[in-house]
Amino acid sequence: MSYMRSLKCRECGKEYPKEALHVCELCFGPLEVNYEYDKIKEVLTRHAIEKRAPNMWRYKELLPLDGEPSVGAQVGFTPLIRAKNLGRALGVKELYIKNDAVNFPTLSFKDRVVSVAISRARELGFQIIACASTGNLANSVAANAAACGMESYVFIPYDLEQSKILGTLIFGATVVGIKGTYDEVNRLCSEIAGKYGWAFVNINIRPYYAEGSKTFGYEIAEQLGWKLPKHIIVPMAGGSLITKISKAFKEFQKLGFVKQTDTHIYGAQATGCCPIINAVKEGSELIRPVKPNTIAKSLAIGNPADGYYSAKVIKESGGWGESVTDEEIIAAMKLLAETEGIFAETAGGVTLGVTKKLIEQGAS
Ligand SMILES: *Cc1c(COP(=O)(O)O)cnc(C)c1O
Ligand SMILES: [Zn+2]
Repeated sequence: MSYMRSLKCRECGKEYPKEALHVCELCFGPLEVNYEYDKIKEVLTRHAIEKRAPNMWRYKELLPLDGEPSVGAQVGFTPLIRAKNLGRALGVKELYIKNDAVNFPTLSFKDRVVSVAISRARELGFQIIACASTGNLANSVAANAAACGMESYVFIPYDLEQSKILGTLIFGATVVGIKGTYDEVNRLCSEIAGKYGWAFVNINIRPYYAEGSKTFGYEIAEQLGWKLPKHIIVPMAGGSLITKISKAFKEFQKLGFVKQTDTHIYGAQATGCCPIINAVKEGSELIRPVKPNTIAKSLAIGNPADGYYSAKVIKESGGWGESVTDEEIIAAMKLLAETEGIFAETAGGVTLGVTKKLIEQGAS
């Protein structure tokens, strides 16, 4: 049973059939999945969710598939850790880490979005799955494609970390390194998607892909005992995750699973690539693209697809944003490792570095 009604333009509201579409033909706005919330409300309760297996499909009524997922049955429900040592070091009473560095199977939150994207691509009849990636998406697409016997093509900037490239090649994906930035890789992929009819998880089936990120927000709410955090700090690359966390919180309120949605949402980026933070600080709706220069390669998107909506989510929630330098990123990675025993990648350093800065600024 599917509760997905249509795709809907975020700008003008025009509805489209549930196909491989991502832009509105009237106004060029992005399309988003639209659900029948009234019907979901009749069938889904907190108690029903709690009885289900500990993976992200426990929220399947709120995910964009017509049938069961064809890959990634184990994804999600990663630990929400009460970080007491780190909280003490930063001088805050209650601090939690949502640790998606242990997501299954490729150890990043991309396994959430990819399992949704591949499952939907198969429902739509695609044979070949592809992506433009800064690293983690590549790994996840390659692994999940292998797991369900699909051919995969992965396009990355040529100068990614060796370990990430190896982590993609091992699954037998065709990996194409492009001498350019992620934004150039992405533009090339848009052309390829049009020409070859492949399912690019983050281009022509992006509306479905992006919905997978909502599970991150659902899990945080459930793991806090069906409550929302007062503040949340979210790493941003293309800006999709932060907007979907906001959507997840709002949906849970609409369904009566949480009382209110007054969470302050903060964005985190590296100073070497912070187009969304720049817009937030300038109070501007305009995202000025930048040329990335940071060790946080998984967040190095200079022209973020959802930049405009991310800045809006931050502003409307009463949150804020900050960026951190490469030195601050490394220091934060060490702090996380030494206080909580978690060795996360550079994006984790960005998130913690920004958290530290915001606490020092007295964000409240
Ligand atoms: C992809 C990614 C993000 C966020 O990406 P968005 O494009 O903003 O959704 C955050 N952290 C890590 C580690 C990622 O791989
Ligand atoms: Zn439109």
